Amino acid sequence: MVIKNVDSFAERKRKMDKRLYFISADIEGVTDVTSWSETEKGQDGYEAACLQMTKEVAAACEAILEAGHEAVVRDGHGTARNLIHDMLPQGVRLMRGWACHPASMMAGIDEKYAGALYIGYHSPAGSDESPLAHTTKYENVASLEINGRLASEFTLNSLYAAQQGVPSIFISGDAGICRRAKEEIPDIVTVPVKECRGNSTFNIHPRDAVIRIKEGVAEALAAPAALLELPDTFEMRVRLKKHQLARAALGHPGVRRISEDTVACTVHSPAELSFMFGFIIG
Ligand SMILES: [Zn+2]
Repeated sequence: MVIKNVDSFAERKRKMDKRLYFISADIEGVTDVTSWSETEKGQDGYEAACLQMTKEVAAACEAILEAGHEAVVRDGHGTARNLIHDMLPQGVRLMRGWACHPASMMAGIDEKYAGALYIGYHSPAGSDESPLAHTTKYENVASLEINGRLASEFTLNSLYAAQQGVPSIFISGDAGICRRAKEEIPDIVTVPVKECRGNSTFNIHPRDAVIRIKEGVAEALAAPAALLELPDTFEMRVRLKKHQLARAALGHPGVRRISEDTVACTVHSPAELSFMFGFIIG
């Protein structure tokens, strides 16, 4: 009985230390994914891409569970129904479908999470660092700048996480987005799984990606997490691929015209940033 009491104490201690992590998953930054068809349900190569996306997310989940913590995964691509839940470790909860919330790929994150992780992320629209470079709507967005700097989906999402009090601790994806993430958050652990040039990708082996992601997440969990300091003002500039969208955005009193295809607005929080970006891009 004494032994049992000691075990119970150890278990209680372990539970007190148990932390909850939020994983936001995309597909364009997954190893080997190179063409749009591979990212779209029902098209050539899609099933294989989903399988590798699932394995890379599972690797992150395994590292979290093995460290004694819990993981919630938000499927953040396309239909938001790409991941194969049964292939993730038991106990992991999966958010599928869209929550009709401006936070989009981060919808559901709040202050109870100890950290945010990003798997399968990709370079932004306006960069030449991936054949699949885009920022949310490929057909509408030419580039997004925040405070004078080219911004990505990761930029928007990590700012939103920081507003919820959640530090961003890990990212895997193409080399371009990993480099940009490191510039924005120097403490973040990155695992680039491919280099890209033009319409080509140069990928590490799918099983190597899984191993490196698991190791990288374990490293990120063990390090102290620093919360991103948010500025008071965000100056957002959006260049659109359709001049009609720029004209339509001017219907909002906070949106200013910069040129025929570019608009700007000034906001004061990441949540407003996500909301206004969603409004402008149609
Ligand atoms: Zn995507």
